[in-house]
Amino acid sequence: MKRIICGLLLLALLGTTACSVEIPAVTAAGGAEIPAVPAADDTKIPDGRWLNPDIIGNVTEDTPAELKDNFALYVNKDWILNTTLPDLVPSLTSLGEAELILMDRKMKLLTDDSLTGHDAELVHKLYALVSDWDYRDAQGIEPAKPYMDAIRDIDSLDELYDYMCSEHNLMQLYPFTMNVDADPVDSSVYITYLDPPGLTLGTEEEYRNRTDVGDLFYDEAKQVSDYMLVRLGFNEEEASDMFENSIAYEALLAEAIPSDKHQRSKNTDAEDCYTLEEFTGMSEGVPVDKMLDASGLSGSDTICITVPEYFSALKDIFTEENVPLIKDWLAVRTASELTDLLDKETSKTVAEMYGAMAGLDSEANEDLIVLSTVAGYLPIPMDNLYIRTYCTEQQQEDIAAIVEDFKKYYREMLENEVDWLSPETRKAAIEKLDNMRVNVVFPDELEDWSGLDFAGPDEGGSLLEARRAIERFKTERKAAKLGTKADIYKWNQIDLPASTVNAAYSPYNNSINIQAGVLVGEIYDDDMSFEQKMGGIGMIIGHEISHAFDTSGAEYDEDGRRINWWTDEDYTTFQERVAKLVAWYDGFIPMEGLKYSGDRIKTEAIADMTSMKCLLYIAKQMEGFDYDTFFRQYAKLWRDQSTPEAVRETILMDVHPAHYLRINATLAQFDDFLNFYGITEGDGMYIAPEDRVAVW
Ligand SMILES: [Zn+2]
Repeated sequence: MKRIICGLLLLALLGTTACSVEIPAVTAAGGAEIPAVPAADDTKIPDGRWLNPDIIGNVTEDTPAELKDNFALYVNKDWILNTTLPDLVPSLTSLGEAELILMDRKMKLLTDDSLTGHDAELVHKLYALVSDWDYRDAQGIEPAKPYMDAIRDIDSLDELYDYMCSEHNLMQLYPFTMNVDADPVDSSVYITYLDPPGLTLGTEEEYRNRTDVGDLFYDEAKQVSDYMLVRLGFNEEEASDMFENSIAYEALLAEAIPSDKHQRSKNTDAEDCYTLEEFTGMSEGVPVDKMLDASGLSGSDTICITVPEYFSALKDIFTEENVPLIKDWLAVRTASELTDLLDKETSKTVAEMYGAMAGLDSEANEDLIVLSTVAGYLPIPMDNLYIRTYCTEQQQEDIAAIVEDFKKYYREMLENEVDWLSPETRKAAIEKLDNMRVNVVFPDELEDWSGLDFAGPDEGGSLLEARRAIERFKTERKAAKLGTKADIYKWNQIDLPASTVNAAYSPYNNSINIQAGVLVGEIYDDDMSFEQKMGGIGMIIGHEISHAFDTSGAEYDEDGRRINWWTDEDYTTFQERVAKLVAWYDGFIPMEGLKYSGDRIKTEAIADMTSMKCLLYIAKQMEGFDYDTFFRQYAKLWRDQSTPEAVRETILMDVHPAHYLRINATLAQFDDFLNFYGITEGDGMYIAPEDRVAVW
């Protein structure tokens, strides 16, 4: 629902990148003692160990910043004091600064007439439609009317099904989402996957036991929905009731989703694949076959689903009695997706609404709204233009060479510096590392969207029609893949665009992806010293490799199959070490009144610490290595200034540790750091060896 608007708050989100692609959560084993944390002697340090310097206002000229007590604050204090957030940016980090550089570059692409070819044509045509505010204002909310009317007219279950299968179903809303991916049994062929739809409150658990996270999602979605529905002609009371009904409908869906859903892997549930006939029989009376047909994805011989219970329960949810709830869900979802397709007032109001939720009161920036809309709808053409304009093969060769070097050292580290692994598991881990695919900077073969076209402003085109054409084209591309040979190792440019400040590890094909967007700013520059590169891009490369060995990566083998490659004893030890790490992070309170979840951030904390271990291993092999420069660059990489609202959201939802913890908690695990600066017992950065939690 926040897809387009998130461009405006992208910087907040991008402060938390260098992530892995989404991977199923894994339950942590057992509990461990929570190590004692010194008592707070400063009310601004709720967790008693380190003042969180990321929150705006926590650090002033007078705040003591000792290297040995709070390294994150010590290195970044001047930057913190001299940084003001750009308009509509609730959070600024080094990665966020890199994103600003990228946005500036992309903004230029929108109007650069020297660019030629179909990608440039599409981008410039959509830019003309999006930025023609006079035309959009003249149309106002009119373009949305027929679609909202079609929902309003639904009066029975049959009419509801007719609507879902009609052209009026603008946002392609069904009781499931569809995707095309490799067959789990025969991974050489593409087939259809169906999942329950995304839920407003984040996960099905939030409908059973609501937490702060669910509340946050609820508040954000309700504000946007209420505003949009009133804008589209409903009164405030109707709008409020409709939102409640949509949540009530989702609660019925959530009830049908078992709690262990996220533990199921798409690669192992071969028994959950059906023929279309079997699948239709399962949902008894709910015409899923017609919906698949209407969506354009019925051409698959095999339908795979992760939660069969959900599809069997649909017949009890789709009843005449529930039609009003489902209808309101359709209205809320459609209205909330229209925010960027109507007039200026709508776009700006919603952008400012998201800004206010993140603690900002600045006016929406029209250029940013336009950029995020164009980039949101045409991700591939924009990415292709960025690659052709700003990336070189030389960059690709340079980064590939660094990664290969890293893999070599990583291998040695696994061989020499991990003493708790048995020879069998060590061998399997090294095989996994050796077999890891490496994608750097940009894909060898760019996605081709030459089959897409839509009418521009001088051909009588409209933004809404352009969107329809783009969505249709995307579905046709998916449909065309069905039954064809799958290539699971191909760089997925939609999920991992080169022009994003990000990098990722995918357990499903054992690959790391280092995108062009991370090769700017404090992360990477050709002119940086070796130590600076190690603290920037080196950290990110090591982090992504390490995801192969975090709690999720540990469950997948060298080819991305969910096959156990551990001895029982080693796996138990691994889980015990993870439990100690989880319990240790549980003890932090990065913001007063919020409980920290070690379980949520464990994969990222493991990746940070393992990467640091590898970097320090490399440092040891280098004559005259400049540790001071390296540690400072690492601390710069995760510097952060955020509004309290943005920090709160990060603490509640982000799977990465808070930024000052990425610096302090990671570095404090290692003697190389502590000894280099003479940090000893009694210093804030000191952690006794028995309390350290690095898993690898
Ligand atoms: Zn990560």
